[in-house]
Amino acid sequence: MKIITCWDEYRRRIVEEDAVVLLPVGAMEQHGYHLPLGTDWLMASYMARRAAENIGGIVAAPVVYGYRSQPRTGGGPHRCGTTNLDGGTLIALVRDVLREIARHGARKIAVIDGHFENRFYLDEACHLAMRDLRAEGTGGVRILKMLYAERIRPETLERVYAGRDFPGLDLEHGGVLETAMMLYCHPGLVDMSRIADEPAPAFPPYDLFPPEPGWVPASGCLSSGKGATAEMGRLLVEEFVQLVTEALRSEFR
Ligand code: ZN
Ligand code: MN
Repeated sequence: MKIITCWDEYRRRIVEEDAVVLLPVGAMEQHGYHLPLGTDWLMASYMARRAAENIGGIVAAPVVYGYRSQPRTGGGPHRCGTTNLDGGTLIALVRDVLREIARHGARKIAVIDGHFENRFYLDEACHLAMRDLRAEGTGGVRILKMLYAERIRPETLERVYAGRDFPGLDLEHGGVLETAMMLYCHPGLVDMSRIADEPAPAFPPYDLFPPEPGWVPASGCLSSGKGATAEMGRLLVEEFVQLVTEALRSEFR
């Protein structure tokens, strides 16, 4: 499967065949010593590609930068390489890209998010793009937006965690879930010899500005990915691929 194609092929697929265009959005964000900075956009792109294969869709080039990493969900801005966009920048960028995809002729667009903090900024980008399209008289466009890991079945969590405590999705930054998924999808980009084993942080129920570096464990991970395996990753990834595929099938017949 090609990621984006030549222009006439692209035009044929979206104009004549009414194919869904999937836009992966991620982040450049530290994920500890053992995972790459691009983890979130790599995983969003992977999910988009697999779902596109299932429905005959097209994957657009990913938005690799994302909204500001938050200390309590992503480790914050303090590790080198975390490259944050302001909320307004992300909204403007994604709004423009969505409007362009619609101008090309696509009527079915899906935004696949791989970075929790992007959430409301992507909502806003979708709202404003729809407003732009209405104002210029472009009808019939629908956008589906989805965090690919929006839901995990309890049975899957139980199998992945097998007796250990699930720290909660907030603390899964650089932890077992992301490590396992990357081991399954991009094994060559994971260095299990460098995985940290620090206790999960006890965050207070508020944020500080400027963010407090001492809140986040030294590695930047919010829980340890120790014990993660590619097999756990397979369970998670295949479930998420299914979840995204079903969402697209039910909304874009
Ligand atoms: Zn991540
Ligand atoms: Mn993230």
